[in-house]
Amino acid sequence: GNDPVREAMHSAFLYHAIQAGMDMGIVNAGQLEVYEEIDPELRERVEDVLLNRRPDATERLLEIADQVRGRPKEDRHDLAWRQRPVGERLAHALVKGITDYIVEDTEEARQQAEHPIEVIEGPLMDGMNVVGDLFGSGKMFLPQVVKSARVMKQAVAHLIPFIEAESEGVSSSGKVLLATVKGDVHDIGKNIVGVVLGCNGYEVVDLGVMVPAAVILETARRENVDIVGLSGLITPSLEEMRHVAREMQRQGFAVPLLIGGATTSKVHTAVKIAPEYSNGPVVHVVDASRAVGVAGSVLHERDGAPFAASVAAEYERLRSAHASRNQRRNLQPLAAARANRFAVEWHSYTPPAPACQGLCTFDNYDLTELRAYIDWSPFFHAWEMAGKFPAILDDPTVGEAARNLYRDAQRLLDCIVEERWLTASAVAGFFPAASAGDDVLVFPAGSGPDAAPSAVVHFLRQQMARQPGRPNLCLADYVAPRDSGVPDYLGFFAVTAGLGLPELVRRFEDAHDDYNAILAKALADRLAEAFAERLHQRVRREFWGYAPDEELDKEALIGEAYRGIRPAPGYPACPDHTEKGLLFQLLQAPQKAGITLTSSYAMQPAAAVSGYYFSHPEARYFGVGRIDRDQVQDYARRKGMDVAAVERWLAPLLAYDA
Ligand code: SAH
Repeated sequence: GNDPVREAMHSAFLYHAIQAGMDMGIVNAGQLEVYEEIDPELRERVEDVLLNRRPDATERLLEIADQVRGRPKEDRHDLAWRQRPVGERLAHALVKGITDYIVEDTEEARQQAEHPIEVIEGPLMDGMNVVGDLFGSGKMFLPQVVKSARVMKQAVAHLIPFIEAESEGVSSSGKVLLATVKGDVHDIGKNIVGVVLGCNGYEVVDLGVMVPAAVILETARRENVDIVGLSGLITPSLEEMRHVAREMQRQGFAVPLLIGGATTSKVHTAVKIAPEYSNGPVVHVVDASRAVGVAGSVLHERDGAPFAASVAAEYERLRSAHASRNQRRNLQPLAAARANRFAVEWHSYTPPAPACQGLCTFDNYDLTELRAYIDWSPFFHAWEMAGKFPAILDDPTVGEAARNLYRDAQRLLDCIVEERWLTASAVAGFFPAASAGDDVLVFPAGSGPDAAPSAVVHFLRQQMARQPGRPNLCLADYVAPRDSGVPDYLGFFAVTAGLGLPELVRRFEDAHDDYNAILAKALADRLAEAFAERLHQRVRREFWGYAPDEELDKEALIGEAYRGIRPAPGYPACPDHTEKGLLFQLLQAPQKAGITLTSSYAMQPAAAVSGYYFSHPEARYFGVGRIDRDQVQDYARRKGMDVAAVERWLAPLLAYDA
């Protein structure tokens, strides 16, 4: 019954077992002490027992076991560290991410130093090295590192004028260019990478979002960078990255090219990007925590050659595995897939008619209302903290970091809501619709399937071999066919919570506060998703109105326990991003909600969600998967587009080499 001793033993055991190579265990996550926080005396005696270090280990542990029970934990608001020498105070502030005294401490250190640069090269770098070590060994997490970087940045900002007055240079580990490629607007991951590289001594040239290849390469040459890092979130960015790689080859670059972002992968990098650029190493970076390791390996390991060679060998293996998998891929002919559609008995089912037809707009939507709909788990994933909310707050490893991050998020959200720093707006539309093969015809509000369609939505169909009784799905299957004569409907929506975000982010960046800048973006994304969730709920209850009495709690909403789906173009059931063009036209999204599309059909503001509403009770999310040349040609014909253009947009889906 002595939990403090029990938990300390478990935690110390896990710590040593993991060091020794254990990679899986089953634990009670709610009852684990953080290894670093075990009382040092208790830890020593526990480890004496676990590691069998001395004959009297058991007696010595029993001696203190009773004293440990019920001892209060260290006071977190202890200011004793303020009494320590200035160097230690700076290190403490960096490790704990405390900005409160950073300018006065930095100034004190500067006055004691002979040259201002010594403050950076001495205590500040020492502190950051501690942060780097703790992060590298899994004892510190990204939000804490970004907070530490904020402390560093504010200290450096204070010193820069003095350093410039003495015209000293700051030495760096290397110069890295970072850019989100043309057509793409997402940069949370890229910004985190920039901050992490920055606090490891790299000089970062961040070109921001939507950067054309020419600008990337011109800057890389002018700034003489050591590494080019490309980021992107949506699938069209994969082709754009390929284009940048090809241009780097053509222009004779030889610097390493790093690839990162949500839809990128090691396989895609190996198969599609690396072959375009043979002059320098091409490496996929799976997340921000790997960026420093990869940058260090390509630059500083004796020529980077052994590392580059091992990556190249691994990518060669991935390419041949991919090629043989493509040959074995067994797709159904398009006609057979269509014959195996999801069959609805349309004559024994009456699709609900929407209570509102045409467009409904929502300006300046109440953020307090939206806040209650936030799904917090993806928020922690954005900071590379895995786990489900709210359990993550009590996680033995990341719990404390998660609680601090959550508290900071709530505070910023309070201000965003009260001061109206962000504005949310949306537009939704409901129209008569009928399927025609894999397309859905959309008719003007108030008309029916005999009218001339005002728009045609194009969908793709699964072609993989299916078990008997399992259909080859296409979203069009969920809408009554025109020749059934059954009236049916399709809904559309676009929401954003990102209006005002650039100004807010700029304010934080001007104050050298990347932590809050990234936090603000992550919160705007959360509010946009919450808006999509809330609006969908109101659609089911009010605007389409097929579930007026639905009463689901937040858990059930996140778990999609309701009737109907809201698939989003670019996601697996409707992977073609270009269909957003039609969606936005139908909704008049730029005029009604202030959301526009980039050249790659990314939404701007980035904190936006758009999609279709399907009301059929059997409608489910699925993945289209790979498609063959026949379907691509058929799809291009239906859309009135070039086959080659469709192949470029759908490149990641093709089951053949275009
Ligand atoms: N609670 C989550 C909700 C977003 S993810 C959050 O706050 O981030 C779920 C959404 O992604 C769905 O509502 C749908 O719009 C989209 N989605 C998921 N799977 C999909 C698929 N297979 N095809 C199309 N859209 C999909």
